[in-house]
Amino acid sequence: MSALFPADIDAMRRKPVRRDIVVRTPEPVVIVRRLATCRCGSVRAICTGEPLRVAVSHSPDSQRRSGSAFAVDARFAEDCVSIDGPTNRWSAPEGDGTRTTYHFCATCGSTLAYTNDARIGQVTIPVGAFADPNFPPPTVSDWEQTQQPWVAITGDDVEHRD
Ligand SMILES: [Zn+2]
Repeated sequence: MSALFPADIDAMRRKPVRRDIVVRTPEPVVIVRRLATCRCGSVRAICTGEPLRVAVSHSPDSQRRSGSAFAVDARFAEDCVSIDGPTNRWSAPEGDGTRTTYHFCATCGSTLAYTNDARIGQVTIPVGAFADPNFPPPTVSDWEQTQQPWVAITGDDVEHRD
């Protein structure tokens, strides 16, 4: 082994140190896009990303709106939802003093979206409009005091509210 002279040491300092380069590729980012449609297909909502919340409501208003024993709705950030097609709207006051505006197909009458004036920047889409068996399950079951006695919303993560 030969001795290193100061000139060699200077040269080594100037020479870029070779390091094995490990390129880490980021995990692929999967952006989920879901399509909700009314019954006749005239109105479509494309929802990008996961919903902020999925909730069941057993309230009398939700039962009447959905025409079923309960409603299941997914709330999204408004920026993540694009609605296309002719809709009519109807607004109604809520018991808490807020107002909800429902957007429904002008042809078949299916409610495809609604907004509440207390939830600025959010839009709610009925889960049934997605007709997707893999849609995220609800984490809230609300208005259980008016729940039909034969209904049970199950799941360890479900918050049950009266
Ligand atoms: Zn329609």
